[in-house]
Amino acid sequence: MTRPVTRSIQLQGHRGARGLFPENTLEGFVETLAIGVDVLEMDVGLTVDGQVVVTHDPSLNPDIARTAGGAWLAGPGPMIGSVTHEALLAYDVGRIRPGSAYAGSFPDQAPHDGARIPGLAEVIGLDPEIRFDIELKTFPLHPEWTASPGEMADAVLAVLDATGAAGRATVQSFDWRGLRHLRACRPDLTLSWLTRSSTGAETRLWWDGPDPSDYGGSVPRAVAAEGGTVWAPEHGDLTAELVAEAHGLGLQVVPWTVNRPDDMRRLIGFGVDGLISDRPDLARRVLQAAGLATPPTRSSARVIKAG
Ligand code: MG
Repeated sequence: MTRPVTRSIQLQGHRGARGLFPENTLEGFVETLAIGVDVLEMDVGLTVDGQVVVTHDPSLNPDIARTAGGAWLAGPGPMIGSVTHEALLAYDVGRIRPGSAYAGSFPDQAPHDGARIPGLAEVIGLDPEIRFDIELKTFPLHPEWTASPGEMADAVLAVLDATGAAGRATVQSFDWRGLRHLRACRPDLTLSWLTRSSTGAETRLWWDGPDPSDYGGSVPRAVAAEGGTVWAPEHGDLTAELVAEAHGLGLQVVPWTVNRPDDMRRLIGFGVDGLISDRPDLARRVLQAAGLATPPTRSSARVIKAG
């Protein structure tokens, strides 16, 4: 099948735009909307009081979290699943710890002191039209770290339904248990099947049974067998042949996390359908230079108080 000459590439801002703004914060998402993305990508966890909160790690990350008094955490903070959302609001997550390796990875991130871990519903409330890609953070090797995949998926679905945003949402996970749960109970929901080659021998755990070897070594065939419509591989795993194979199976290919313009150009050349990036500003320039459409810039009606 010949692919059309003109096409659009979906631009997803990873954790907002982690390369530029504090990750997974309302402040960062608002600034990302102003740059212009198609989708806000984010990670979620479930608190002890059943609130879906937008944060990446199963425990409070000491590289981004300070106490109300401004002290950096000496080590990992409480497990997200062991505290209430109100308790999490005591922590400032508006800046990466200066001097940390994490700060070295994102030297252009501008702090926004006072930013807090938001609830999913608050992020959805930022814009009535933007799409969301919501990553369920559960861990097959560590069931004690979080709520079960089904519980977390149900909680996210409840927020999507309460906010009327299910039609604008994709739910993604490396842990395919949550995705299978959602596919069974809400087949209308768009799901994205995350993969990384480094799961290796643990793939049967992450995928809840299958392994690429069951499909002649083909990851896209494994995703297609799940009934997936979106495959989100680690970008270094991709080749033009794999993208073509996935397209032949009816899958969209949306790699993560693509931050270097040369990688963006290479992947666009492969024919990917989207890019997940910490630097949507750079991705927009690459798209423009390639003659591809860029998403509109958006100003959120929601006013964020300065910290
Ligand atoms: Mg994520």
